[in-house]
Parts: sequence; structure tokens; C-alpha cells
Amino acid sequence: MDHYEIDTVVIGAGVIGLACARSLARAGHEVLVLEKNAVFGEETSARNSEVIHAGIYYAAGSLKAQFCVEGRRALYNYAAVNGVPHKKCGKLIVAADDSEIPMLDSVAEKAAANGVEGMRQLSRSETLALEPELNVSGALLSPETGIIDSHALMLAYLGEAEAHGAQLVTGSTVTGGHVRDDGRIDLKVGGDEPLLITARHVVNAGGLWAQSISAKIDGVATVPTLALAKGNYFSLTVAAPFKRLIYPAPAGGGLGVHLTLDMQGRAKFGPDVEWLPVNDPTAIDYSVDPTRGDCFYEAIRRYWPGLPGGVLAADYSGIRPKIAGSDYPDYVVDTHLPGHVMLYGIESPGLTASLAIGDAVAEAVVET
Ligand SMILES: Cc1cc2nc3c(=O)[nH]c(=O)nc-3n(C[C@H](O)[C@H](O)[C@H](O)COP(=O)(O)OP(=O)(O)OC[C@H]3O[C@@H](n4cnc5c(N)ncnc54)[C@H](O)[C@@H]3O)c2cc1C
Repeated sequence: MDHYEIDTVVIGAGVIGLACARSLARAGHEVLVLEKNAVFGEETSARNSEVIHAGIYYAAGSLKAQFCVEGRRALYNYAAVNGVPHKKCGKLIVAADDSEIPMLDSVAEKAAANGVEGMRQLSRSETLALEPELNVSGALLSPETGIIDSHALMLAYLGEAEAHGAQLVTGSTVTGGHVRDDGRIDLKVGGDEPLLITARHVVNAGGLWAQSISAKIDGVATVPTLALAKGNYFSLTVAAPFKRLIYPAPAGGGLGVHLTLDMQGRAKFGPDVEWLPVNDPTAIDYSVDPTRGDCFYEAIRRYWPGLPGGVLAADYSGIRPKIAGSDYPDYVVDTHLPGHVMLYGIESPGLTASLAIGDAVAEAVVET
């Protein structure tokens, strides 16, 4: 079996693995990124809303809140400097009637606790002056929310990592391994004629597969159980009359059926929440059931009564890697093995938080 020794291996080339590779390579590590697919960034990092989240909804003190706010501030600067297409378009969280106004108050309190800048309560007439097609009693404006081209972002991370000596090897599946007595990890890469790679530092950024990767490495302790929540999108096949992202007042724990825009100005609604009965990523079916669209029309018309019939088309879906057993799970940055970092539950706002997560991982590796 061919055997290589290397300082640092990052498993997975989604936005998180690439951000980690960037931070680690900038910090002087020799970095090898192993990606099982033929191309980087084809899984969850290509199946999301591409929203730069302000950091509004997350529990104060959580890693999600911290990484989102830090990551968002860094991301606008990074995107501007590196020519990554993005737009700080802002977002409105709308109360369709007076009964929903208190929900906006509680959202505003959470945002303030997380240090989100610029949030502003708007009256009905102030909201209609911005977005005349809405049916509203009032709204909360988040000027820090934006959109970004996620593929261009990953390309920029990869380019910077490579400029600092990192290497990406695609078509390379980590199939097993074990923790050695000296603390390094032996990784088996590939199937029939596997390679052996010994690494001083391993970062598991396998996304939906992070748990199954850890389970295959002897000596990696118990991992949090994975649960899969599918998010289905319906695209709007006519021009959207909105310039900002539009979210309903949150009810029942979810964000509700919201409208996001992409860099080309196309609008889509979703993602909704469909819990999958299995937690095995090999069993995922990404197709979108068109009949789910019926509930979308009803929900959207509460805040956009002018939505015409027959204009929503089943589009794509993405899968949230949830941590089972908690209603509001936080990210898990597991450093129980000195020198190694296992990342679990990196669901939204992972894209926004990617720079902050990358830097935190590079620091965690240095501290051990
Ligand atoms: C529906 C939805 C909407 C979202 N919207 C937003 C949003 O608007 N804004 C935002 O900030 N965040 C959003 N997110 C979150 C964001 O998309 C994720 O947090 C982020 O993409 C996760 O990146 P990742 O690198 O951890 O995972 P992935 O992109 O899935 O990358 C993991 C990589 O690991 C590779 N891999 C797996 N197993 C192995 C192995 N054994 N060997 C080698 N490689 C392996 C995979 O092939 C994959 O390329 C959304 C998520 C979902 C599901």
C-alpha cells in the first residue's frame, strides 16, 4: 500500500473544507484536501439559498450566532477584495397583520443580543414605500442581509489555499483509518487499492457524511447522531416585484416560506422543512415533489396577495445535516483528539459563517 506523510488533511471540499484549507494554509500548514466527488462543492454547498445571513435568529452565545456575525462581517470584505459577486440587498421580515407585530419585537431582541447592526422596525407605510406589493402591518428591516455567488466564493477560497501551497485531490474518498499511538491519524483513501496517508492534523469537513467518516476511523470517540431535514425550493417563473429578500414573521420555530433572490435577480421560495425518515446520506433523493407547491401558494399569498396562479415550479433541494435530539441544535466543533477537528451539524448559516469557522479551526489546530 502506498504511504504518504503530511502535516494536515482536510476531508471534504465544500465551502467549509475549502475555508478551513484556506485558513490552515495561510497559517503555514502543508494542506491536502481530499474530496470524494470529481469536482469540489457539489453537495450542500451547491444546494442552498446563497444568502449572507445577518445573524438574527440564532440563540445568543451559540456558535451559530458567533460564527454567523463574525463570518458575515468578514465575508463582505472578502467578497469585495476578491471579486466574488455579492449584493447587500437587505431583507424584510414582515408582519402580515397586527397579531404578528409582537413576533417582530422578539426577533429584534434576538438580533440585538447577537450584535446584528442596523435592524430597524418599519411602519406599514414605510414598508410599502420600499416594497409596494406586500400585504403588511409592519416589518423589520435587516440591511446587513445579502446574497452571494457560492461557487465563486468556493473558487476564491480554493485559489487562495492553493496560492499558499494547499492541494486539492478530487475523486479521493476517505474509507477508513485509525488514531495512532503518537496521536497522528492514518487515513485509508480509496477502495480496492487504497493509499495510506498519515496526518498530524485531520479536519473532518465531510458535511452530511461527517458522522460516517468519523465512525470509520478507529479511535475517534462517539459522534453526535445525524438527522436529515430536506429543504425544497420552488422557483418563481415570472419576474419578482421585490428588490429585497422577504421573510414572514417566524411562527412555530421555522422561518416560514420566504423569498430569496439570486445574483441574476431570479426569485425562489423555500426551503421548507421535510424531515427524512433515514439518516443515511447514501439514501438521499434530492428530487422535489411538485405537490408540496400547494402549501407554498397559501403561505406566500398572506404577504404577497398578488402572487399569480401557476407560476411556481418545483426546483432543487438541499439537505440540512441536523444534530438529532435538540430543537435548536448548535454547531459541534469537536477537538477531543489533540490536533484534530471534527465538524458536525454545519447547517445554515454555514456559507455565511465559513470564514469564521475556517479561522476557528486553524486556531484549534494550533492550540493543541
Ligand atoms: C436548504 C439549505 C439552505 C441553506 N441556505 C444557506 C444560506 O442561505 N446561507 C448560509 O449561510 N448557509 C446556508 N445553508 C448552509 C450551507 O449551505 C452549509 O452550511 C454549507 O454548505 C456546508 O458546507 P460543508 O462544506 O460543511 O458541506 P458540503 O458542501 O456538503 O461538503 C462536504 C464535502 O465532503 C465530501 N465528502 C464526504 N464524505 C467524504 C469522504 N469520505 N471522503 C472525501 N470527501 C468526502 C463531500 O463530497 C462534499 O463535497 C443552507 C443549507 C441548506 C441545506
